[in-house]
Amino acid sequence: MTRMTPLLPRNERFASTYSPGPLVEPTAQMVIVTCLDHRVDPAITLGLRLGEAPVIRNAGGRVTEAVVDDLAFLAYLAEQLFRGQDGDGRLFEVAVVHHTQCGTGFLADQTFRHQAARATGLLEAALEASAVADPHLTVKTDVEKLLTSPLLSPKVSVSGHVYDIATGRLTTAVDARYP
Ligand SMILES: [Zn+2]
Repeated sequence: MTRMTPLLPRNERFASTYSPGPLVEPTAQMVIVTCLDHRVDPAITLGLRLGEAPVIRNAGGRVTEAVVDDLAFLAYLAEQLFRGQDGDGRLFEVAVVHHTQCGTGFLADQTFRHQAARATGLLEAALEASAVADPHLTVKTDVEKLLTSPLLSPKVSVSGHVYDIATGRLTTAVDARYP
């Protein structure tokens, strides 16, 4: 038994009209970095369709070392696969999206964070770094962190946005710019 069972008919419906495509450049020329929260799926909130944009999700949608590594690899892939050897073209925009009412907000509280670290074995500093108490603040921090990372390709631009759980609206907090 698996809880996937009731989802399989949905997959069957999807597969019945699906046509596979080749690996080409994501058509939106974007990569979205956002929270793993099940209320903020960009396929729903932004109407993203298959093939439009890679999405990297973690707790809070924070720009961690793992996210920077993935973006460095995606930039390399984009340049090698889609931009040939001329290497002059700009590659894609990274949109960092944080949201209100984020569950990681609890981690801003020292007592909660301390208990969470003890219970999970995760480092307290890592938990603190993933907290999104004020998404307008953290999204600016993370855009800056990406733009100043030596691993970020100079052909990749970065923007920051906040999604409001209460209204379903996304607003731009930081316009796209290059490192
Ligand atoms: Zn969240």
